[in-house]
Amino acid sequence: MQTTTVTMDCLHFIDGQFVPSLNGTTFDNINPATEEKLGIVAEGGAPEVDLAVKAARRALSGPWKTMTANDRITILRRIGDLIIQRNDELARLESLDTGKPSWLSGSIDIPRSAYNFHFFSDYIRTITTEATQMDNVALNYAIRVPVGVVGLINPWNLPLLLLTWKLAPALAAGNTVVIKPAELTPMTATVLAEICRDAGLPNGVLNVVHGFGPDSAGAALVEHPDVNAISFTGETTTGKVIMASAAKTLKRLSYELGGKNPNVIFADSNLDEVIETTMKSSFINQGEVCLCGSRIYVERSAYEDFINKFVAKTKELIVGDPFDPKTKVGSLISQEHYERVTSYISLALEEGGTIESGGKRPEGLNKGYFLEPTIITGLTRDCRVVKEEIFGPVVTVIPFDTEEEVLEQVNDTHYGLSASVWTNDLRRAHRVAAEIEAGIVWVNTWFLRDLRTPFGGMKQSGIGREGGLHSFEFYSELKNICIKL
Ligand code: NDP
Repeated sequence: MQTTTVTMDCLHFIDGQFVPSLNGTTFDNINPATEEKLGIVAEGGAPEVDLAVKAARRALSGPWKTMTANDRITILRRIGDLIIQRNDELARLESLDTGKPSWLSGSIDIPRSAYNFHFFSDYIRTITTEATQMDNVALNYAIRVPVGVVGLINPWNLPLLLLTWKLAPALAAGNTVVIKPAELTPMTATVLAEICRDAGLPNGVLNVVHGFGPDSAGAALVEHPDVNAISFTGETTTGKVIMASAAKTLKRLSYELGGKNPNVIFADSNLDEVIETTMKSSFINQGEVCLCGSRIYVERSAYEDFINKFVAKTKELIVGDPFDPKTKVGSLISQEHYERVTSYISLALEEGGTIESGGKRPEGLNKGYFLEPTIITGLTRDCRVVKEEIFGPVVTVIPFDTEEEVLEQVNDTHYGLSASVWTNDLRRAHRVAAEIEAGIVWVNTWFLRDLRTPFGGMKQSGIGREGGLHSFEFYSELKNICIKL
């Protein structure tokens, strides 16, 4: 295992300056793969959030407001370019913070973060609004204006990717922002602040306040009366707390929340393709992706074949050092999360399940929060392991007999984020995709994303949609102007 050779301290970024907390408070940042200290992080609370919000509000009426669209596009493109230039450094920091394989950070997380800026900078030019004329009496036209100061609250699983997925459209639409990164993964947000400054983003447009969520920096951001909107990605339970708190100042909310996503595999699908993709949808990023398919339903006639091949392939996955290019599964994010995920493996046994593969710490890895990719069978729809989000490399596989039966099981959840359906029957593909209660349904694939398309969850997996115009709709107000002719 590579030891930690990088240490980095993370300060807040407020009004264009890196600053410590007002009272000097910090917390330690830990590398989950080695349990070594990576550095210290400024611990912000209500006073730092207030400074950041004030800076963001001032910046709304500064050069950011009067800048031409072309200048804004240039800055956003430059941010994307600088992320690409610093790809290796950012990928390294992301893997140190999260424990994920560095090839994954370097080939997906960081390039996609740069692309978020390039994509939304291009999108600025495509935004049009409507005009309507009422006889010869009045002309109405709509213009888009920024919402104002937006709070961006992010989880630890895809730190830079998910942050930029919010930040790029928020800036493209002319807002100013205060970011609260996950306390477990503060490093790439700190470097991003530097990148934004170097790209020419005016002071105060982007602010980062590190710290904890509940009763601290996150809560203060949600409660602040001068924050107009909160875009939040995280757990459904946290979303409920934030909604209650945001109600006091009636903030606009965008929510990307938890999931318990089904993969529905019919016997007529191409099993080799299914297995190849299911390996990724189950275990990529240690299963710590909101879109991972953790409930796998297989038509009974293909069940045995599927299990045999899936288990054999899973046992081949190399778990370990995030910086070894052969590693497929890195470390879970923290001790607390490791305990939570493994508690579900114990629960699966209590609920009558069988561990077909994995279920324990890999041999020889005594430090770090490593867990073998785990396949569980023998559970039924009422088991907690089948119902609750685990957010780790743990999947359940359940056989089914009919389309009606599987649909009933698939929809028997309060989550509705994503699903994938595997079949070569065209009519069934459309039928089943239409019936599944999820914001995104993939057919014969997984994780394929076009950034123009709506992204978001149904039921308790989210509110609103991100992507292309949908993001602009959240990050701007549509104002109607009526002129009497
Ligand atoms: P959490 O909900 O625990 O935390 C998310 C963020 O919210 C963190 O920055 C956290 O701060 C902050 N936070 C926590 N409590 C509050 C509060 N009361 N007020 C304001 N902010 C708060 O989620 P995780 O970080 O554990 O992320 C995993 C979850 O995210 C999973 O449920 C996963 O499904 C979901 N997710 C959803 C995605 C989607 O697109 N639908 C994408 C990725 C993840 P701190 O870290 O300091 O506690």
